[in-house]
Amino acid sequence: MKKVLAFDIDQTLNVAKTPITPEIADLLQKCLEHFEICPISGQKFDQFLIQIVNQLKNPTPEQLKHLHLFVAQGTQYYRYENGDWKQIYNYPLTDEQVAKISQTIEQAARELGYWEEDKLQPGDEIIENRLSQVTFSALGQKAGTEAKYAWDPDHKKREAIVARCKELAPEFDYEIGGTTSINAITPGMNKVFGMTHLLEELNVQKEDVLYFGDMTQPGGNDYPVVQMGIDTITVRNHEDTAFALRGILGVL
Ligand SMILES: [Mg+2]
Repeated sequence: MKKVLAFDIDQTLNVAKTPITPEIADLLQKCLEHFEICPISGQKFDQFLIQIVNQLKNPTPEQLKHLHLFVAQGTQYYRYENGDWKQIYNYPLTDEQVAKISQTIEQAARELGYWEEDKLQPGDEIIENRLSQVTFSALGQKAGTEAKYAWDPDHKKREAIVARCKELAPEFDYEIGGTTSINAITPGMNKVFGMTHLLEELNVQKEDVLYFGDMTQPGGNDYPVVQMGIDTITVRNHEDTAFALRGILGVL
């Protein structure tokens, strides 16, 4: 039997950038009784709390000990110890790398006409430094879900931006994720890095892990996990994930 259930977050556990539903929260809490549960995503730590941890219903410390947060694609790892979340490791980008990536993505998006500053809500930003990665969100973090879904449903805009970024700064990797996002990282700092550390930190083998993701196609930010040879379930949305989790819990 699998020991670890690992999950992409946006579009796998929730609608992008919104909290998980009570149903997903309930299913995850049931899974915490049987498995180590590992969300891994490009988000920041506070988003893991907002979207997942704070949605659990009166979780016990015992349950939380089985929840492992692999933040910023697993380049940061937090676990619950002595009543609080403790950062176990962190591999940040340098200031120079952040500056170079930010400049590159902005230039690429501007050249292609996809730099939509005018659509941002007050105080929002298109490029965000997430410490271990830099993230481009075409319409900002605060844009409505509908607008985000409509922006690039076939990934064509982001593929064009990524292609141009690779010409301008080939020393970085660029991955398409979420609904409007591109994550820029140093090579190798993708989910392979996160999943490799996950195996090490939890002291398990690849075969012990089942991974859920919505971007498992080549170029997607879940694809590196597939390439590692970890068993993967491709979902379209959190409803698919709920369906699969009910199935897993049903045969325990
Ligand atoms: Mg996703």
